[in-house]
Amino acid sequence: MCIIRARAPVPVQLPGRSLQTRLICCLADCLLCRIVRGELAVECIVETDHVIGFMNEGEALSRGHCVFFPRHHAPRLHEAGDAALAEILVLVKKVARALGVGTYDVLQNNGAIAGQTVFHAHVHLIPKWSESEGLVYERGRGRHMDQKEMAERIRVGLARRG
Ligand SMILES: [Zn+2]
Repeated sequence: MCIIRARAPVPVQLPGRSLQTRLICCLADCLLCRIVRGELAVECIVETDHVIGFMNEGEALSRGHCVFFPRHHAPRLHEAGDAALAEILVLVKKVARALGVGTYDVLQNNGAIAGQTVFHAHVHLIPKWSESEGLVYERGRGRHMDQKEMAERIRVGLARRG
């Protein structure tokens, strides 16, 4: 059950000189953090201790396009908490089933050059009801690459940090 309701906006601090002040201002401005605080009204579909899911009504790519995000601010996926991330994929599965859609895209961008525009990690579920509705993209052509060095970097990183 969703309890998110719009409340009166909380005053936003003006940009200051210190990093801490700028960070507070950035978090105050974050669109998704504003939803968590109840400052923006959204069509909520699910709310848990870790995650909120809502309908994308402002820039919907298809009927049923929805967005899931961790409650705690994390700019990119690799900075978000494990519990929220694990929960998001399960919710994507359940919502796809609830919609009765078997063809859909799950989109998640990290960083501006990767297409991220809201810098609070989030995951889109975009139903693909037809070829023209939903996410339309031109698939890049891959090429053969020797990935041994990258594979070793990953193995070493996983061994260090898990
Ligand atoms: Zn945020």
